[in-house]
Amino acid sequence: MSTLFTRIAKGEIPAEIVYEDSHVFAFRDVAPQAPFHVLIVPREETAGLASLPDEGDHLYILNAARRIAEKFSLDSGYRLVINQGKDAGQTVQHLHAHLMAGRPFAWPPG
Ligand code: 5GP
Repeated sequence: MSTLFTRIAKGEIPAEIVYEDSHVFAFRDVAPQAPFHVLIVPREETAGLASLPDEGDHLYILNAARRIAEKFSLDSGYRLVINQGKDAGQTVQHLHAHLMAGRPFAWPPG
């Protein structure tokens, strides 16, 4: 059984893919929390940070974030977030990073 995000990668669930390579894919979040909000997802179905293997597609998330930021000229800044577990609000059990931009972000985060 594929995860929701793998089904998006396969085109079974519609989403606007903004970037992909052999390790990761990225698409716009259905409920954006910023003017620019995409999810960067490793092709391997790792549930989250807590079960991360030492090697794998997740190692390419940061490079993808930099490439997406360049592609969309996110020159004034952006935030990369990974939610792990209940307290962090993780809702999809397939590791993903949120890349958000287009507004100022508070610190500390809520
Ligand atoms: P989490 O809460 O696990 O860190 O993030 C999951 C994200 O997936 C949420 O921001 C949510 O809006 C997004 N999401 C959930 N279902 C879908 C979907 O079917 N399509 C898209 N594009 N995003 C989704």
